[in-house]
Amino acid sequence: MNYDVVVIGAGLGGLMSGITAAKEGKKVLIVGKGIGIITIFTGTIDYLGHYPPEGIRPLDSPREGIAELIAKNPDHPYSKVGMNFIEGGVTAFKEAAESGGVKYVGDLDRNFLLPTAVGTIKPTSLLSSSMAAGDLRDEGDVLICGFQGLRDFYPAYMAHNISTLTVEGVELPHFRGRTIDLKLGAGSSGMTSLTLARKFDDPDFLEGVSMALYENVRDGERIATPAVLGLRRGDEVIKYIEKVVKTKIFETPTLPPSVSGYRLYKALEAVVRSLGVKLLLGYEVTTAKVEKDRVLEVTISMGKREMLVGGKAFVLATGGLVGRGIGSSETNLVEPIFGLDVTGPKTRSEWFNKSFFDPAGHPINKVGICVDENLLPMIKNKKPRFVNLFVAGAQLCGYDALKEKSGGGVTISSSYKAGVMASSL
Ligand SMILES: Cc1cc2nc3c(=O)[nH]c(=O)nc-3n(C[C@H](O)[C@H](O)[C@H](O)COP(=O)(O)OP(=O)(O)OC[C@H]3O[C@@H](n4cnc5c(N)ncnc54)[C@H](O)[C@@H]3O)c2cc1C
Repeated sequence: MNYDVVVIGAGLGGLMSGITAAKEGKKVLIVGKGIGIITIFTGTIDYLGHYPPEGIRPLDSPREGIAELIAKNPDHPYSKVGMNFIEGGVTAFKEAAESGGVKYVGDLDRNFLLPTAVGTIKPTSLLSSSMAAGDLRDEGDVLICGFQGLRDFYPAYMAHNISTLTVEGVELPHFRGRTIDLKLGAGSSGMTSLTLARKFDDPDFLEGVSMALYENVRDGERIATPAVLGLRRGDEVIKYIEKVVKTKIFETPTLPPSVSGYRLYKALEAVVRSLGVKLLLGYEVTTAKVEKDRVLEVTISMGKREMLVGGKAFVLATGGLVGRGIGSSETNLVEPIFGLDVTGPKTRSEWFNKSFFDPAGHPINKVGICVDENLLPMIKNKKPRFVNLFVAGAQLCGYDALKEKSGGGVTISSSYKAGVMASSL
């Protein structure tokens, strides 16, 4: 079987590359072992939350931060992608999400400041419109409402933590926490966000929640809820509740599993299918047949059978260590399909750091595949290993997504560019 573009990986990166290549008129296959971390991440897209990364104050303008970063750090993925493709990726992502049914708002000019479920403040650039009223610079105190039985969302804890924070130059609102008993009965304790979100399809349940929120909110407050307001149609649910409570309401990203990540996945998957992309989920790409500097085909393992798939171009979007696009052994780090060079700490002891959230960054987050300005993987950082294999997403080297708050932005920018580059062959 032959395709113009074969995308390996069906996470945020793989889906964006596949959509981009399909929109360029290419015959596209996306193959993914799973769907990656899209359903556990918050669904908000961070482009650059802190720069310099050590900076404590959230960055106001990701655009200015990225421009400075590109000028100073030629090895960063944003420098390899370039500002035009970064901008192009923002537009392509927002268009794709909206045509799949989830509207995203925001741009590179300003970071939103959002409260998180653990009571921190998250700078982020693009978010679903169901979260937009949560910007802490906006007017209105905040009533944080949780629901009895929902796991990992504790309004009083969140309100307390966030009340201890300050952001220079920003007057933060007052926070108050309330947990509402929806009388869901036995068996409802320890519910996940996904379980609760499904209940919002029931109009009686929605009306009951709206009334409970109305009874608890005070004048001048907006309402924060966990991101559980409907599995697919958060905007519609919010519109309904806002009519009842007569104030603004917004969803707050929760700990995994993430309803907002699930909605985004379903939206992008719908676009992939509507563009006629072949999506093979649950199958692993194991090896590749190459000739000199060209990838000819890849082998997809399908249980006891194997399938060979040829392509003019390939995109590798298999994620980092978390997505298993990079594997590790006692002694080294490997990219398992093509045997690409992986950059990172050389020995296990260098990987070790007691604090995963060390302000200086954790060495493990520096692991990645280095690419040139066309996103082709490099041999010893000197010349491209292949001319028709483009690398995108979490597995790129040269950045620390956790420290900079740039994970989603780097993934979307690079996967958009990889989709364009792969289509040009
Ligand atoms: C816990 C967590 C929270 C995060 N929160 C945020 C956030 O709030 N905002 C933000 O902007 N970013 C966040 N990030 C970062 C962001 O989620 C990632 O940058 C982005 O999702 C990476 O997408 P990806 O497609 O590159 O990788 P992944 O999502 O890891 O996808 C990799 C894909 O490749 C597939 N795959 C791997 N190996 C093979 C193989 N051999 N054959 C076939 N398929 C294969 C996997 O099954 C999967 O489909 C977070 C990351 C984590 C881990």
